[in-house]
Amino acid sequence: MIKLINANKTYTSKAGIKVKALDHVNLDFNAKGLVFILGKSGSGKSSLLNILGGLDSANTSKIVINGQEFKRFDDRTCSIYRNTHVGFIFQEYNLMNNLDVYENIALALRLQNKEVDQSKVMDMLKLVDLQGLERRRLDELSGGQKQRVAIARALIKDPTIILADEPTGNLDSQTSNQIFEVLKRLSKDKLVIVVSHDREFAEQFGDRIITLKDGSVDEDTQKKVDETFIELPESIRARLPFVLKAKMSFENIVQNKLRLMVTVMIVSFLVAVLSAVYTALYVSADVTGDLMDLSKQTQLVLSEPIPFTQAEVINPKLNDSSPKKLNGEALVELQRISDNHHAILFPKTHMWENEDWLRIKDLGLTVQNPESLASDVVIRPNTELLETIEEASLIFISNRKVLERERLGRLPEDRFELVISSALAQYVLASQGKALDDYPSLLDQFLNLGTFHRLKIVGIVYDEALLLRGDQTILNTTYTNLYVHPSFLRYNPLPTHLVSYGVQMTEQTNTHALIEDLKTVGSVTLLPRITDRLNRYTRHELNLLMAVLVPIIGYFAIIFLGNYIASSILKRKKQIGILRALGAEIKEVQWIFMIEILFVGILIVGLVLVMVPFMIDILNFIFKVHFYDTFIAYFHYDIFSLGVGHFIEVISLLALVNLVIVFTLTYHINILDPVEIITGR
Ligand code: ADP
Ligand code: MG
Repeated sequence: MIKLINANKTYTSKAGIKVKALDHVNLDFNAKGLVFILGKSGSGKSSLLNILGGLDSANTSKIVINGQEFKRFDDRTCSIYRNTHVGFIFQEYNLMNNLDVYENIALALRLQNKEVDQSKVMDMLKLVDLQGLERRRLDELSGGQKQRVAIARALIKDPTIILADEPTGNLDSQTSNQIFEVLKRLSKDKLVIVVSHDREFAEQFGDRIITLKDGSVDEDTQKKVDETFIELPESIRARLPFVLKAKMSFENIVQNKLRLMVTVMIVSFLVAVLSAVYTALYVSADVTGDLMDLSKQTQLVLSEPIPFTQAEVINPKLNDSSPKKLNGEALVELQRISDNHHAILFPKTHMWENEDWLRIKDLGLTVQNPESLASDVVIRPNTELLETIEEASLIFISNRKVLERERLGRLPEDRFELVISSALAQYVLASQGKALDDYPSLLDQFLNLGTFHRLKIVGIVYDEALLLRGDQTILNTTYTNLYVHPSFLRYNPLPTHLVSYGVQMTEQTNTHALIEDLKTVGSVTLLPRITDRLNRYTRHELNLLMAVLVPIIGYFAIIFLGNYIASSILKRKKQIGILRALGAEIKEVQWIFMIEILFVGILIVGLVLVMVPFMIDILNFIFKVHFYDTFIAYFHYDIFSLGVGHFIEVISLLALVNLVIVFTLTYHINILDPVEIITGR
């Protein structure tokens, strides 16, 4: 026996006027039979049915089945109640248009977590006289057939009550008659409550007729109710199968292709811009330190700048009037500072003599005519060597760290001695017709380097050292690395070379303190010109850029994505309503959008990751142009680069935006009752 106790419903219209749709209605129902609810339009019939069906939670009514109370439902109990006890039939059929007849009926079973038993679905189809139509699409059915599909869907759940709100409202009288015959058949062992305005049918088919007037029971043909207990099914929480959720998501994605593409493009672009700028900011937050990190060797290279106009001429004659040439005093100061900070000062010289054999290429020096190297110790360069040094510079290094590696011979002890790399040694050996591993034979030979003084080879280092990283770096060749004594360059009589000095940090070195001290060496201001510009450029300009970009881009990203999802939700309002009416919880419905936004998110992340490297290239380009004249030793490096952190940033940023959107947007489904979603009120 089913009791409806104190069914009350007051609507407040938008204008604030209160309409009493139901006024303290109390009704008892038998476990079986066909009950008609009649009444004029607006008398409260639908309101009553919606409360009975658990479609409308915003009321103070109680439903008691066998003494088990359902009242003031939260979403979950409401959904469970609908899913377990109610089979609802609507005037507008409310079938899922994207599913065929069979799947529409099966959906009710799936929501109840029941195996879809094909023969059971077929039996239902037979019961409502639809055999053979199981694979029909819904738009290939007549109104009467659709309504019978809806009846089959309600029935297959084996609900406690079947509720029908004007099921024949859209049908002609002959079809209506058939529908009522079906309902009559069902009412032999189920309670079927039908809202109608057709007294004739009610009198023909009804076991009981309740007439409503202004929200109250006006007439009831049945006074006595039998108290038979109803066998109650166990409560079932609705679960939308994942496949179905995913299917719904993808259907919508496919339907919204264009919108999706535009959204994805715009949002990815915005996020990519933001992400690239953010990276730039991140990298340059402490740009000096980061520059150091960028060169893996933690060396700080102080180069004397070559003005580019000069660097471009074939035969540059750098002289002491070069604006940043370190004088002897500054050099001593540099040495002192390095010592103070437990750092090692070493000269690094890119040198050339005249246009015959060396020229400047970009910032590096290229060996133009290597034959001139071959004068004393005969190096007859083969093509391979030529190619190698073509892109390289001849570099003198007294980098002790490198020299401490596996080595033959000893370190240079004065400026007339040097250590060569094993690679170079091999070329020398080859040119002398010796075995390539006969390194000892080279020791104590002399290497003539143009007008530099002759240098004695005292050691060979097994060298594959890449001193600085990067593909285009000028320092990464091992062939031309010549390791000399630190004094070599200081005593070098030739003015026609460009000197750069390296400060190699050790474990005890405090990088930042060292940099501070190095900013001004003697009367020469070394670092400020570079770091000040870096810092100004990065900290201030990028911060400002971010401050402007983040809100704007965030705003647009949310608008575009939000718009996409909102339209997606709106388009499926009806489907959602149907699922909810069948008993699906809000959470289950949210999943559909989660899957969709996840897919959109993946698309965006993918695109962003394609775009970001390009943007970073642009940033690097801007950066390089900006510092074109400063001759930073890292000129060849890309200051900004794409890293793992970047992927994480992009993904978490998007995940955040997406979550915000799905939750805010689906929130208003939360507060809507299924009946409101269906009727679109
Ligand atoms: P019936 O189904 O018998 O036509 P309803 O139950 O739909 O009646 O409506 C009963 C009364 O409540 C009517 O006066 C109707 O205008 C009003 N009403 C129904 N739904 C709403 C709503 N969402 N907002 C405001 N008034 C409503
Ligand atoms: Mg109505």
